[in-house]
Amino acid sequence: MVAALIAPFETAALDLLPATVCAVTPELRIAYVNPAWRAFGLSNGVAALEAIDVGVDVLAVTPEVLRPYYAELFARARQTRTPLEHDYECSSPELHRVFRMRVHPCSSGALVIVHSLLRQEAHPQAPASALADAYRDDRRIVVQCSNCRRVRRPDAHDAATAAWDWVPAFVEHIPPGTSHGICAVCAQYYYSDFLPTR
Ligand SMILES: [Zn+2]
Repeated sequence: MVAALIAPFETAALDLLPATVCAVTPELRIAYVNPAWRAFGLSNGVAALEAIDVGVDVLAVTPEVLRPYYAELFARARQTRTPLEHDYECSSPELHRVFRMRVHPCSSGALVIVHSLLRQEAHPQAPASALADAYRDDRRIVVQCSNCRRVRRPDAHDAATAAWDWVPAFVEHIPPGTSHGICAVCAQYYYSDFLPTR
């Protein structure tokens, strides 16, 4: 069944790729993930990747703030029958990493999504203190950017002027009471005008 869904791709070939690959049905349910995808999720402790398995709604495991963006991207790939690309960050505590996803529409309506590493380097920003309480806002919530994984300082009066700090300890272990948003820089650079800044 998967073979017909993802043609002209073949799972035997996708299984061998070092790039992380997943395929979703026309209803955006996970139909296939390759071994590199599983290994990446497990080695990076990324909850969203660990949660992904066959049958799961891919948007349900996408941070809420980014769902409208990806829903539109996937729909556009299918409507235009054209592979589309999108860059995003997925850093580890030690390395700043930028990935490029390429969304390939299949004639069945399924999408085969290939994620390739574009570049990685040591973090340009010095690590900030890992004191979670310093980052809790008046609702006791820590807000982490869904894209660059920086956390928002709670002292800003509005989202547009908020400072976002790189706290490796929060990437390694997400503090309890963390909510995911999108920082002003990522909203402008990676998601253009599609998303409101928050
Ligand atoms: Zn960001």
